[in-house]
Amino acid sequence: MPAQPQTGPVAGRLPADTLARNFADLHSPLSAHEARVAADRCYFCHDAPCVTACPTEIDIPLFIREIQAGRPETAAREIFEANILGGMCARVCPTEVLCEGACVREAAEGKPVQIGLLQRHATDSLMARQGHPFTRAARTGKRVAVVGAGPAGLSCAHRLARHGHDVVIFEGAPKPGGLNEYGIAAYKSVDEFAAREAAWIMEIGGIELRHGQWLGGEITLETLRDEYDAVFLGIGLSGVNALGLDGPKVEGMHDAVTFISALRQCEDLSTLPIGRDVVVIGGGMTAIDCAVQAKGLGAETVTLVYRRARERMGASRFEQDLAAQRGVRLIFEAAPVAVEGEGRLSGVVFERMGEGSEGLAPTGDRFTLPADQMFRAVGQRLGDASGLKTVRGKVVTQGSGRTDMDKVWAGGDCGVGGDDLTVTAVAQGRDAAEDIHGTLTD
Ligand SMILES: Cc1cc2nc3c(=O)[nH]c(=O)nc-3n(C[C@H](O)[C@H](O)[C@H](O)COP(=O)(O)OP(=O)(O)OC[C@H]3O[C@@H](n4cnc5c(N)ncnc54)[C@H](O)[C@@H]3O)c2cc1C
Ligand code: SF4
Repeated sequence: MPAQPQTGPVAGRLPADTLARNFADLHSPLSAHEARVAADRCYFCHDAPCVTACPTEIDIPLFIREIQAGRPETAAREIFEANILGGMCARVCPTEVLCEGACVREAAEGKPVQIGLLQRHATDSLMARQGHPFTRAARTGKRVAVVGAGPAGLSCAHRLARHGHDVVIFEGAPKPGGLNEYGIAAYKSVDEFAAREAAWIMEIGGIELRHGQWLGGEITLETLRDEYDAVFLGIGLSGVNALGLDGPKVEGMHDAVTFISALRQCEDLSTLPIGRDVVVIGGGMTAIDCAVQAKGLGAETVTLVYRRARERMGASRFEQDLAAQRGVRLIFEAAPVAVEGEGRLSGVVFERMGEGSEGLAPTGDRFTLPADQMFRAVGQRLGDASGLKTVRGKVVTQGSGRTDMDKVWAGGDCGVGGDDLTVTAVAQGRDAAEDIHGTLTD
């Protein structure tokens, strides 16, 4: 069949009801009855492997027992004690490689306890009630600056506020939540959950949130260190890696994170332009989210191309299968080498890759995919390091996030220990807060 001429991105490829279906909640929440039935499957293991697999070490059997006993709100308190963003983590954690992947019932029957859905049931129950579950300790008179209102910053700020410190969050973007607000796939966090969760976290009191405050712009690390007793950096990775490709300069090449951010902030998805033939380059969660959402907006073909073998993909098997079910074609062991088009992108040339004794190498075998839109999802890097020591593009930290600079801690994606998961960022923000608290009250 001859290739159809490329038209470029167009808005409104699908009717409103189809768009609503494509971006609906990925998992339906459990009813109270379903939650009790799911909780009944837990063996309440000693030294439970699910707990060890959770970066925030939530006491999973304990909270499941509370749900089983019909006390979801007590269960939620247990969860929030370890992870104040337990509501978001219940929605976005790749549980298949964390708690549920480690569950003994997964090993025995290939069917783990539904820990993620149970956690969502508990946290949603408590968050639907009036009032915040924690109160602040007496004020200490110490002031801490937190830079970045993503999962790491919010978690750190909440824990510090609980200990009685006064916290100011300096955030560059107009809304709090970091990638919860601007990055996570729309179908994982529906109904403005990121904004509602951030507002709920602030209910602890003692946290002031200042927007439009960029480190390296409106504020500097030097002044923060002068004016505050401690500083926590949770600035994530705002830079985007480039792809050096041959070929003409053409329209239609985008960065996946920018596209997803625009999609998350778009009030009417029928106004968001999308190509007819979309190519996504990358192998992580961002690549999958970009591809699935491009398909959801109405792209006719979406092809995700990853340069290594399937097993090496950063995205879990669940995410890969989700993409395939939603009509995304996955191609492995191929890397982009050039783009084609006159003014507008019309195709992307790939070369097959092979794992040889010297590692990954091009084989010389090339093919071209027709494309009028291409998204790069090949990793992000640190924006402003503010003079801190870095290694492989991340801030060097030791212990619970201490940097090489006096009074400065860092955590989440921007730190060397970050592994690009919401739950890890939450754990590191919390642990840095405990370390800061210990230092300030020594
Ligand atoms: C598209 C995408 C999808 C993802 N999907 C998942 C998923 O499904 N599940 C999962 O577990 N993880 C997912 N992740 C990873 C997860 O979102 C991150 O690991 C997590 O958000 C890191 O939290 P953080 O607080 O360290 O950084 P961020 O969430 O990036 O927050 C950093 C905050 O700092 C602010 N900031 C940055 N620079 C400055 C500055 N110079 N001055 C002031 N403020 C600044 C930013 O505006 C932002 O609010 C995804 C990531 C992406 C990109
Ligand atoms: S490993 Fe599975 S069965 Fe055991 S406590 Fe955790 S959730 Fe329950």
